[in-house]
Amino acid sequence: MFNNMQELKDYCVDNDIKVIDFKVIDLAGRWHHLTIPAARFTEKTLEDGIGFDGSSYGFLTIEKSDMVFIPDLSSAFVDPFNEVPLLTMIGNIYAIGDKVERFEGDPRYVAEKAERYMKETGIADKAKFGPEFEFYILDHISYKSLPNHMEVYLDAEQAEWNMGNKDRKNLGFKVGRHKGYHVDIPYDVNFNLRNNMVLMLEENGVPVKYHHTEVGGPGQLEIELSFGGLLEMADRTMLTKYILKNEAIRNGKTVTFMPKPIFGEAGNGMHVHFQLFKDDEPIFYDAKGYSGLSQTALYAIGGILKHAPALMAFTNPSTNSYKRLIPGYEAPVSICYATANRSSVIRIPGYAKKPDTKRFEFRPSDATSNPYLAFSALMMAMLDGIRHRIDPVEEGFGPYDVNIFELPEEEKAKIKGLPRSLEEAADALEKDHDFLLEGGVFCEGIIQNQLKAIRRDASRVTIMPNPIEFEMYFDL
Ligand code: GLU
Ligand code: MG
Ligand code: MG
Repeated sequence: MFNNMQELKDYCVDNDIKVIDFKVIDLAGRWHHLTIPAARFTEKTLEDGIGFDGSSYGFLTIEKSDMVFIPDLSSAFVDPFNEVPLLTMIGNIYAIGDKVERFEGDPRYVAEKAERYMKETGIADKAKFGPEFEFYILDHISYKSLPNHMEVYLDAEQAEWNMGNKDRKNLGFKVGRHKGYHVDIPYDVNFNLRNNMVLMLEENGVPVKYHHTEVGGPGQLEIELSFGGLLEMADRTMLTKYILKNEAIRNGKTVTFMPKPIFGEAGNGMHVHFQLFKDDEPIFYDAKGYSGLSQTALYAIGGILKHAPALMAFTNPSTNSYKRLIPGYEAPVSICYATANRSSVIRIPGYAKKPDTKRFEFRPSDATSNPYLAFSALMMAMLDGIRHRIDPVEEGFGPYDVNIFELPEEEKAKIKGLPRSLEEAADALEKDHDFLLEGGVFCEGIIQNQLKAIRRDASRVTIMPNPIEFEMYFDL
């Protein structure tokens, strides 16, 4: 929004802004914030930065935890959720050693480096990413405060009650299980709220492609964003989740992006579409290629599929991610590519046929990922595939334009499945991460921090008695 401090100061005076808020991301992908009176924000703040404890953000060990962040003026937006007019901007993280320099493990810096590396390889000079957000709107309840929260997770009927229908007078229009896709009002109970959310996104620089109700009925919704650059789209992803969560709370509701919040209902994915351009020409299009894709696009697909298990440690970094990736819910399960097939990791949308719309979609990712790291890892896998000519046909990744579940057993056995758990994804990342380190984009430290974080989560869930175990074993 601003190029320099003077522009920002002028804006604050003209708009009576007296408070400035800074958002800084942690390793898991949560924004934290710190606030100062506008009068205290000066050129010196931009030189020295603002100190914070990096260990609480999951970045460093306690001994080396002092860090600073320096606000990025260009990322400023007027926060719509506060009573006092508030200007908000994102901070870039700096490490304090002999001198103050960009912290290699700052997710936003990783995204910057991934975009820079893409240009350095000469393969492309512009990337476009298009994420789709699936989420549930629930009543304003904290799962912790629910007296019977066990049932919310175990029983879809109970979940349905919690998803807003109990407030409605006319129960004649009640969305059935799995029947939510594109339902019109009066079934679309969250239409007003969703419209408000989307208008707020547009006003805050996040263009939306479209939005609709999703299969998980009632309460599952989807918002697809228009395409944007890698770093730009990671910033927009953070802002989208921020606006959706806060606008929902303001209306007495709760939004969750959790991949599988309700047993037996559709999960929440964050599919991402990709396009690459060189000199303004789309390099993924070839009218004669498979499904209109160029050989470069196929190599990019080859890279993603080859590294898919390792990628999951960034694109699906929660234990709950793997409860979504099961057959029967339009979520991907097979490491292959296909046109229009929703159970494959890569889907080529059949309706995008023109050079400038030709693209493919990565389906596993979910919004529990840190978007900077997930998008950067995907970019690195695509570049690796293109640089090393990883041909998805030779690698046995398809294309599989058939119902995979109906293939003969010996054919089915050839198709690799996605990791079935967070531990498996962690093991895959441990073995396969050299492609992420290329060009200094990811550093060993961030890989190790990520491995530590996801292994800790995985082991917490393993040792925790699960509610379903009471049903299975309590009376034995
Ligand atoms: N909700 C499904 C998933 O978990 C995807 C549905 C769709 O294809 O949009 O990925
Ligand atoms: Mg969609
Ligand atoms: Mg969808």
